Parts: sequence; structure tokens; C-alpha cells
Amino acid sequence: MAPDPTSPQSLADPADSDKPSSSKRGDYLSWDEYFMSVALLASQRSKDPVTQVGAVIVSDKVIVGVGYNGMPRGCDDDEMPWGKTSEDPLENKYLYVCHAEMNAILNKNSESVRGSTIYCTLFPCCSCAKYIIQAGITRVVYLKDKPSNKEMIAAKIMFERTGVEFSQFAPTKRRLVLDFESMSIDISSGSRSPGDADQC
Ligand SMILES: [Zn+2]
Repeated sequence: MAPDPTSPQSLADPADSDKPSSSKRGDYLSWDEYFMSVALLASQRSKDPVTQVGAVIVSDKVIVGVGYNGMPRGCDDDEMPWGKTSEDPLENKYLYVCHAEMNAILNKNSESVRGSTIYCTLFPCCSCAKYIIQAGITRVVYLKDKPSNKEMIAAKIMFERTGVEFSQFAPTKRRLVLDFESMSIDISSGSRSPGDADQC
């Protein structure tokens, strides 16, 4: 019998013992869901109070780079500015923060990321698009977009001219909740609702 996709899935579900050993779970994460989930999880390492972005680079279904937005190594998170409304640009975060995509590329654990896919929780800005193109990444999968943002429009122009494919992630599950206390993962089915809080 197929598992109920609306019921919580436990890593240590005693009901597993009742299942025929010859059948596999039916509602496991797809590759895209898995990699985007890792990107979302990585975004939660960010100390940015407004914008948390994660990125994961995948080559032949293997993760070869992970990043999130943060200050450069050696720049104290407690001393650097995290705001964005000061009249003095030096008092805002923008001139300092390393974006998730750039960090994922620079933190790669393989010799090359040529021909790989990058999963981003937010469509890359134009600066990260340049890193992506120059690194030889050929596919971008993103969760959210800001269609009127000029930096992202410029990124799309460059992707189109260089043949980098980009597509929005279309999850089949609405929620995936990690519960450390019960060691379970709750998965809710259903289409994802747009209009979540703006990340910038
Ligand atoms: Zn960027």
C-alpha cells in the first residue's frame, strides 16, 4: 500500500517493520527537492537579519560546493554592519557581504565545477552570475526571483547569451520540517504558495 503523503515521515518509524521488505518508500525527496532543501538549510547559517540565501553546486548528483551569504573570513560578524538603509554606503552591508553563490563556488571541494548545476534559494545577482559563468556552471535552479530587480535582469541577459540554463524550482511538497526532538521529518504535500516574505 502506498504511504499517505500527508502523514509525517519518521526516520525510525516502527510501522516500517510491517512493510514488505521488497518495497521502497514512495515519498522520498526527488533530486531537485533534496538539493534545494540543502540550499535552504545552508541559508540558515546566514547571520543576515533580512536576507538568508543558500546555494549548492551539484556535479553528477554529488554536492561539490555549499555556500550562504556572510561576511568575508576574518571580518567579525559582530562588528560588520548588517543594515541597508544608512546614507553612508560604508555603514550598509552591501559592500561587504559575500553572496551564497560566490561562496559555494569558492568553497568547492572538486577541482572544477564545469558543467555542474547550482541550486540557489534566490535568483543570482549579476555579480554572482559572472562567477557562475566564469566557473563553467551550465545550469541554475532557483527558488525565488525578483523579476523587476535590475541586477537579476542583467544576470538573465548574461545567462541567455552564454547558454546557461535557468529554471525555477517547482516543488511537489509544500513543507519539509526537520524535528530534532523526535528525529522525524514532516513532509506536507501540495503546491507551494507564492508570496513569502521578501528576502531583501
Ligand atoms: Zn550575488
